[in-house]
Amino acid sequence: MRVLVIEDDPEIVQAISLCFKVRWPEASVVTRGLGNQGVEAVEIEMPDIVLLDLGLPDIDGFEVLRHIRLFSTVPVIIITVREQEVDRVRGLEAGADDYINKPFSYLELLARVNAVLRRSSFEKFRTSKLFTAGDLAIDFGTQEVSLRGKAVKLTPTEYRLLDLLVNNAGRTVPQRVLLERVWGPEYVDTPEQIKVHIHNLRHKLEDNPQNPHLILTEAGRGYRFVASSKTTTTQPAGA
Ligand code: CA
Repeated sequence: MRVLVIEDDPEIVQAISLCFKVRWPEASVVTRGLGNQGVEAVEIEMPDIVLLDLGLPDIDGFEVLRHIRLFSTVPVIIITVREQEVDRVRGLEAGADDYINKPFSYLELLARVNAVLRRSSFEKFRTSKLFTAGDLAIDFGTQEVSLRGKAVKLTPTEYRLLDLLVNNAGRTVPQRVLLERVWGPEYVDTPEQIKVHIHNLRHKLEDNPQNPHLILTEAGRGYRFVASSKTTTTQPAGA
């Protein structure tokens, strides 16, 4: 799990980091002390959850949230000392998933994070069970992939790679993020891993692997799955 903490108070940052380290030792916590840097980090680091302070030195936390919501649906928990009801409502209306007031206990923070993550993964599962892009179909529930109605056998690594690209369709996923999410943090310096697997995926999914139309290389940056105009995401009847 990747956590982004946008907070300028080092003590709070330390408390949150410690909390995550204890409960989720595999979590990596990224911190930004300014709102603008925080927005940028959502784009670059692609966190699974964001903890956002409202009182930041440069721009207001609400403004940060508004910017994030222009391009991302990442779960956001607002952390604030402001206790007024009006702020609470404003934050939730602006697209925050939950609220926590400073000072908070570890247990309280963990409970909020757990609840938000549970909701977001449920939402993802519920709304993106069946995905089709042209001739390609992916069932995220059963992890089955088919091309023109014929099953395509993917290795677990290929499936995870495809899953990550498709779930970020239209956006370039940085190489580093792919390596960390699909292989693990210890693989971030081995980009050749990706090349081989992208090559294999293209041979299994593309009409012309030499001239790919689904999985594009963004030189020096990463890879981008292209969602065509025919792309649809539906929920099967009765699911
Ligand atoms: Ca602050």
